[in-house]
Amino acid sequence: MEKHEFDVVVVGKGNAALCAALSAAEAGVKVAVLEAANEDEHGGNSRFAGGVMRFAYGSVGDLRRVTDISDEEAAGSDFGTNTREEFLDVLYRLTSYRTDPDLSEILVNQSLDTMAWLRSKGARFVLNAGRQSAMVGGKRKYFGNMPIEVSGGGAGLVQYLDAAVKKAGIEVYYDTRATALLYDGERVSGVRAQRKGKAAEFHAKAVVLASGGFEANPEMRARYLGPGWELAKVRGTRFNVGDGLKMALEIGAAPYGNWSGCHATGWDRYAPEFGDVNVGDQFQKHSYIFGLLINADGRRFVDEGWDFHSFTYAQYGGEVLKQPGQFAWQVFDSKVKQLLRSEYRIKFVTKVTASTLEELAPQLEGVNADHFLETVRAFNAAVKQDVAFDHTIKDGKCTVGITPAKSNWAQKLDTPPYEAYATTCGITFTFGGLRIDKDSGQVLNVHFHPIPGLYCAGEMVGGLFYFNYPSGTGLVSGAVFGRLAGASAAQAAK
Ligand SMILES: Cc1cc2nc3c(=O)[nH]c(=O)nc-3n(C[C@H](O)[C@H](O)[C@H](O)COP(=O)(O)OP(=O)(O)OC[C@H]3O[C@@H](n4cnc5c(N)ncnc54)[C@H](O)[C@@H]3O)c2cc1C
Repeated sequence: MEKHEFDVVVVGKGNAALCAALSAAEAGVKVAVLEAANEDEHGGNSRFAGGVMRFAYGSVGDLRRVTDISDEEAAGSDFGTNTREEFLDVLYRLTSYRTDPDLSEILVNQSLDTMAWLRSKGARFVLNAGRQSAMVGGKRKYFGNMPIEVSGGGAGLVQYLDAAVKKAGIEVYYDTRATALLYDGERVSGVRAQRKGKAAEFHAKAVVLASGGFEANPEMRARYLGPGWELAKVRGTRFNVGDGLKMALEIGAAPYGNWSGCHATGWDRYAPEFGDVNVGDQFQKHSYIFGLLINADGRRFVDEGWDFHSFTYAQYGGEVLKQPGQFAWQVFDSKVKQLLRSEYRIKFVTKVTASTLEELAPQLEGVNADHFLETVRAFNAAVKQDVAFDHTIKDGKCTVGITPAKSNWAQKLDTPPYEAYATTCGITFTFGGLRIDKDSGQVLNVHFHPIPGLYCAGEMVGGLFYFNYPSGTGLVSGAVFGRLAGASAAQAAK
């Protein structure tokens, strides 16, 4: 059997794994990265990510640690803030106060330094003007507390980190699926793997698991998330099948967090089973806040305008999955057409248009047309007329007397032509993970004792997200905990 010897072995090759590998290599130890995918499909969900990144900042000076911003740009922009307090508040609010206080504090407190560290490794960041900004009062206002994205999206990030990994002399093994931990009952000393279909062993003084959740495994989805979840489309990689979680649980690691919860969004109804790197995140449809979400029964089922999409989109995919037939149509009129995000204009899109609602209704495949028309009439009658529509703030333009209410951006659906987009549920990643020691990223066992030689990062860290998630947190969390786990693993290996 093939055998290899390293100081630190990192399982996975997404953002968290690459950060762990780079961080370990900084300490001068010999590092290997094992990637289950081949070179074409490498990079995990990180490669599919849109690339927005949420980190704590309070001033333009903070943002300038991450990207260049000219004086002219600074003067012409309203970047808002995302202070540590604001970032923590949103994590607490969206997780119904369940997020682990220690882990979320580390995520928030380390987020800006980690962005600067990524930059030092060659990652390039740019202002996120395209997706989350608008001109207001002569200034470009960024909303959602997230004015920066990585250049080239998640694929760009993986490319930058890849280049840094090569430069650092880290060895990457593709087509190498870790299948079990080498564990003698006391410490982890490597992994067993299948490399290009053959058995192999990678011995190491420490192992960092960063192999994602179980989102691409329909059996585990049905088992942990519940019946029906096997029917979700997978937004990203097909390789995150829960291997790392299973291997760790097998040797007594402690499961932690929201094992029946996940991040899932509205996604084109006829998108392929797994993500397509050429389309990236563009099967998503995040502008529902400006329209109506209609199910097979012709009814609305969520408050489309509860908050900016950044704070509802990760939860509403699951709401779509619960509807009969697991689909929902997003319906808009021409008043908001210019506000729809770029993903509504891609080539592969399930869309119908009509010049009257009566003509639109029968085109909404699978929908009770009479109920749909009734729903729109009731909605239009309920829209509060004396509040002005303003898409750059939560405008309070709501409905009155209908259930569910629409809390913001409620405008009558009355201006043709009408457009509707068919969506289903696309799962992004699962929330359940492992319990780690907050200061080192070391995995704890079921009795909360550290498992010598075992660390984890990224989607595999449990306890951060419950029920919901603020957009842009996955990549930053992967980088923060990847960097931490890598540094600790290197320390342990010395
Ligand atoms: C469509 C989409 C859009 C997104 N947009 C954003 C965004 O804009 N901003 C943001 O912050 N987050 C976004 N996310 C979420 C973000 O991508 C993830 O949270 C993050 O990338 C997870 O990083 P990770 O390193 O933990 O996992 P991944 O990047 O998924 O990496 C896991 C790695 O493990 C490998 N692997 C799995 N099993 C094994 C095994 N047994 N042996 C070896 N290797 C294995 C996989 O092949 C992969 O390389 C998005 C996700 C998707 C799918």
